[in-house]
Amino acid sequence: MQRVIVHYHEIALKQRNRPMFVRQLMRNIEGVLRDTACSLVRSAEGRVVIHVPDPEEWPVIRERLGWVFGIANFAFAWKSERQIESLAATALKALAGRQAGSFAVRAKRADKSYPLTSPEIARQVGKILKDELGWKVDLEHPDVEVHIEVLAREAFVSVERLRGLGGLPVGVSGTVLTLLSGGIDSPVAAWRMMGRGCRVEFLHFSGAPYQDRRSLEKAQELARLLTRYQLHSRLHCVVFGEIQRQIVAAVARPYRVVLYRRMMLRIAQELATRVGAQALVTGESLGQVASQTLENLAAIEDAVDSMVLRPLIAMDKNEIRAQAERIGTYEISIQPDQDCCQLFVPPLPATRMSAAEARRAEEPLNIPALVAEALAGIETFEYSFP
Ligand code: ATP
Ligand code: MG
Repeated sequence: MQRVIVHYHEIALKQRNRPMFVRQLMRNIEGVLRDTACSLVRSAEGRVVIHVPDPEEWPVIRERLGWVFGIANFAFAWKSERQIESLAATALKALAGRQAGSFAVRAKRADKSYPLTSPEIARQVGKILKDELGWKVDLEHPDVEVHIEVLAREAFVSVERLRGLGGLPVGVSGTVLTLLSGGIDSPVAAWRMMGRGCRVEFLHFSGAPYQDRRSLEKAQELARLLTRYQLHSRLHCVVFGEIQRQIVAAVARPYRVVLYRRMMLRIAQELATRVGAQALVTGESLGQVASQTLENLAAIEDAVDSMVLRPLIAMDKNEIRAQAERIGTYEISIQPDQDCCQLFVPPLPATRMSAAEARRAEEPLNIPALVAEALAGIETFEYSFP
């Protein structure tokens, strides 16, 4: 039976937590392959081995593993006996049908009691392959790389190593609540937190009843897409238009955006407690729009005690856009919609509002009542992958 060998890197560094990290990585791999025939996912001396009863499924497995955080690289592999002759014979099987001018053998012995060192294994197998295939050995720029891994009781041979997403397995770093608009930035912010091992809950505010459902539909599509990176998601939706109308009635135009955001964070903070999220996450990026100045960000987060994380704070729009394209959210985000923050907002919002000014402006509002009402009306959608 064929195997897939998965290597992790960052998690290898976290010595004490390592067993926990590896267990979570294996659970996530099992989850993402749930609907395939892959029968077993096991940990084997510093790597994860997946049993692949049906090699026809490799394209699916390959695509799916590309969505699992915590994987440094992975490869379709052939199991072998540990003797040099068997390793060489298995490598020839793995290379069958390939055309190449040059090759390199990279060997690694996880079992230090194996009689040959890693370079010796590479050299001896390389010699047999060279004689059989007539290809040149080129250690610098080979057309094909053959990887050999010798473990205590088994060995694996693979030909093509594919890069994984890296990062930490989702689930090892706790839960965060991401404020998800229909825009380009917040899905990227959520994805980056997943890459640091966080499970992400999503919260969307819609301008209903004063705006249409487009932003909600986009948030739903985004949450569904991002679920392939964490297998299970919840999107909480708050109808925000009525609260906005009250803010509008109470305060001067240029300050509205900051006050909207303060209310969003307050509602988010309450929801975070309910769902066990330890921090709030936004897609804010310093100076990207007039409302995202240091002064305004400070005035916004003054409304809550929660930790507010902004993973994109120092990224520029081009970097963020490139990431969104890679993740797959970009196409959804650029669909036209009306974000509730644009509701009743002037073309030139205030760029510098202090926390004290914001508090004063909010005085006419019954904030606890507005937060309670928003929470009572929350609608939650769930997504699973695959
Ligand atoms: P994005 O592309 O994420 O919408 P943006 O650059 O358009 O970001 P803003 O629209 O000013 O920035 O919003 C800043 C952040 O506030 C967003 O990244 C998001 O985290 C949060 N946010 C804004 N609007 C909403 C909304 N309707 N629902 C939930 N969160 C929102
Ligand atoms: Mg936006």
